[in-house]
Amino acid sequence: MIAEEFKQMLSQKSVIRELSEYATERAKQIGYENVFDYSLGNPSVPVPQAVTDKLVALASNRDSMAIHGYSPSLGITSVREKVAASLSRRFGLDYKKEHIFMTSGAAGALAHALRAVTEKGDEVITFAPFFPEYTPYVHGTGAILKVVPPDLETLQINFKAFEELFSPKVMAVLINTPNNPSGVVYSTETIEKLAAFLTRKEKEYGHDIYLISDEPYREIVFEHVDAPYVAKFYTHSITCYSFSKSLSLPGERIGYVAVNPNCPDAELIINMCGQISRGIGHNCPPSLIQLAVADVIDMTADLSVYETNMNILYDGLTKLGFSCVKPGGTFYIFPKALEEDAVAFCKHALNYDLILVPADSFGCPGYFRMAYCIPTEKVERSLAAFEKLAKDYQ
Ligand code: PLP
Repeated sequence: MIAEEFKQMLSQKSVIRELSEYATERAKQIGYENVFDYSLGNPSVPVPQAVTDKLVALASNRDSMAIHGYSPSLGITSVREKVAASLSRRFGLDYKKEHIFMTSGAAGALAHALRAVTEKGDEVITFAPFFPEYTPYVHGTGAILKVVPPDLETLQINFKAFEELFSPKVMAVLINTPNNPSGVVYSTETIEKLAAFLTRKEKEYGHDIYLISDEPYREIVFEHVDAPYVAKFYTHSITCYSFSKSLSLPGERIGYVAVNPNCPDAELIINMCGQISRGIGHNCPPSLIQLAVADVIDMTADLSVYETNMNILYDGLTKLGFSCVKPGGTFYIFPKALEEDAVAFCKHALNYDLILVPADSFGCPGYFRMAYCIPTEKVERSLAAFEKLAKDYQ
């Protein structure tokens, strides 16, 4: 029999994907250069040459089974060692390979982390605005996702609403900093406050509460922005990382789970991830890309264009009367729509070939997201279209 749950999901397709498909069709009619497609978070800068060279060298020189054979279920040992050494060097926690589990991107990492620390009926809390895929990620585990409404002034954590929503059923809190869709980076003050709150709740309820930190944008942080390493602040923490954005290779599907080395169950959780894989089929990420990223572990693509684009948009849009919190990282910006209904606003923007994503599905109606991972000259040209759009609301 057909599974009703997934059949019903067909009628709730991703708005982002639909807009991106629209943009592709529109580009066929009026030319790609005339469509300002801010819909999809697909990195726009090339993969570093060193990664390409590494892939070529591996394919040319290494034994076929070493690069094309099954990876061990926890990941290739030497790769886990290199990831652990890099994290220890950079962030001062004593990671060993026993704390690292290689995954298919951040999505794979989250699928494992969530399953490792929740059971059916438990609650997971996240904060609006949030990445809409968290809904299927969490529901797939049998847990329930609860969303804390935003603090619209700062887009940091709304602690008052958080406290109100908290209950003994909460087994995990899921954060994403730097944040998709807002571009906001949680400050040290926010993370300290969050860690202190969770520590207090652990004592009050007498059980562990895990902090799952989703960090695919960790390397895209702008100048002078305070971007604390979350795991340093809280023992029961699990970092979910992806090379998709830092190295511009989302199609290669590579990332990892790193459990805080000071967490008493760290090794247990990593070993459990190997068992979780057996059930969800997200197992043994490709060996070739594991080996390649491990050898360039501290490298990133040239990410500087994202900050250039952000500054152009932030200055241009605020001058036109849009209000938004200045992003501290990522390649997203999150302005307030010029009418209450952001869906209607984004529909109207299509008249100027501006492809904007209404933030209703991010838990933040009235706002819209722009993914500015597009060429800078296009960002500059799009401001004239925004000017026309803004005039319609004067
Ligand atoms: N989490 C967030 C906040 C994201 O924006 C994305 C992808 O855009 C993911 C997770 C999934 O990342 P990956 O493609 O590496 O699985």
